[in-house]
Amino acid sequence: MSTNHRTKIVLDEREMPTRWYNIAADLPAPPPPPLHPGTGQPLTPADLAPLFPMALIEQEMSSERYIDIPEEVQEVYRLWRPSPLVRARRLEQALDTPARIYFKYEGVSPAGSHKPNTAVAQAYYNREEGVRRLVTETGAGQWGSALALACNLFGLGCKVYMVRVSYQQKPYRRSMIQVWGAEVTPSPSVETAAGRSILALDPDTPGSLGIAISEAVEVAAQNEDTKYSLGSVLNHVLLHQTVIGLEAQKQFGQVDDYPDVVIGCVGGGSNFAGLAFPFLRDVLAGDRRTRFVAVEPEACPTLTRGPYAYDFGDTAQLTPLVKMYTLGHGFVPPGIHAGGLRYHGMAPLISMLVNDGLVEPVALPQLAAFEGAVTFARTEGIIVAPESAHAVRTAIDEALRAREEGQAKTIVFNLSGHGHFDMGAYDAYLAGQLFDYSYPQQAIDEALTHLPVLA
Ligand SMILES: *Cc1c(COP(=O)(O)O)cnc(C)c1O
Repeated sequence: MSTNHRTKIVLDEREMPTRWYNIAADLPAPPPPPLHPGTGQPLTPADLAPLFPMALIEQEMSSERYIDIPEEVQEVYRLWRPSPLVRARRLEQALDTPARIYFKYEGVSPAGSHKPNTAVAQAYYNREEGVRRLVTETGAGQWGSALALACNLFGLGCKVYMVRVSYQQKPYRRSMIQVWGAEVTPSPSVETAAGRSILALDPDTPGSLGIAISEAVEVAAQNEDTKYSLGSVLNHVLLHQTVIGLEAQKQFGQVDDYPDVVIGCVGGGSNFAGLAFPFLRDVLAGDRRTRFVAVEPEACPTLTRGPYAYDFGDTAQLTPLVKMYTLGHGFVPPGIHAGGLRYHGMAPLISMLVNDGLVEPVALPQLAAFEGAVTFARTEGIIVAPESAHAVRTAIDEALRAREEGQAKTIVFNLSGHGHFDMGAYDAYLAGQLFDYSYPQQAIDEALTHLPVLA
């Protein structure tokens, strides 16, 4: 059997990448700088020092092409990495497509998603600089659980503000956070000024990521031994996730194949970037013509319907202003099931690449995503997270297009996590209780009247 008949392409531990790839080194122009929320001036490392350790601030601003993965971080990565690249042959057969479909499976981590790739690195650098505790926000709980895991492994305390509606609806992610020794509080809470002011306005608010970020940032800024940690959006988070794409490149090399299309779902953009950026490097160098497709829900259409503008990362306007596609920092998302895809903004690096035409954004209705996920579960076996379902469905659509066009192209998508804690969403889908919801234009227009005005 020739090598390109393999189904599961696994790397030996010793072949795991030892450096992350920093796309900033290869961009045609530097991304627009983040701005200080008070002065509107470009941010300096000192502005970020209350929130992040210096090593991460340096990575945030670095233009070095490769950054070494510390040995201790590699050691933790090896608990589940390298992750498999799998050829979805049974899905290919079901679709009767000439396309080759591969997925990179990040559901093998202890937390069940790609998020520990950055959580572990962030915990490490904070511990190295003497930080005692990390504070963060979480939506559906994937990030909170990943950071709880990482803090536990590096002996740090961990405090998680969890969006209230998820805290109530997703008790098992909350339990995971607690099993790994972290403290979790529903947001908005009375513990912070940001939380109290939101509760005064709307005691029954379901909460949002933007509000929870405000709470976490406030706590980090006010406590000497505590720093803040973000699970997506920022350059250093995307950097840490590139271990995914770097592994995938080696795996494609083993079967002598190379993707024509790279697909990922996007919330803040980190799992998509992690798979895509190493391949984008080849495109930026002029060596390849791969397409890159970033998939978002129609209920939170940041890339497809928001403007590319400076905005705050949080509701209380405490974070820096970053230039990104945005639905406005006051965005309170509808209760769709892909909780991890409900952030109002998008990573500045991905926003810039979309604006430059190097990444194609697509928005999917919720039912189409679940339909794809069920097809996938019934062919490949894996029950994917509702977020990942967006990537699955888009890969299926690409494969069906390849059939119509009679083209044998190579498709890869990032399977960002399993859906074992999201069975309530599958229940609702199977019972016919899920509906499509397209975010109303009126709400977008209104939110955008509150974008910051820059001098
Ligand atoms: C958090 C999450 C996402 C979305 O976040 P990104 O930063 O855009 O990757 C996607 N899939 C899963 C499984 C997640 O946990």
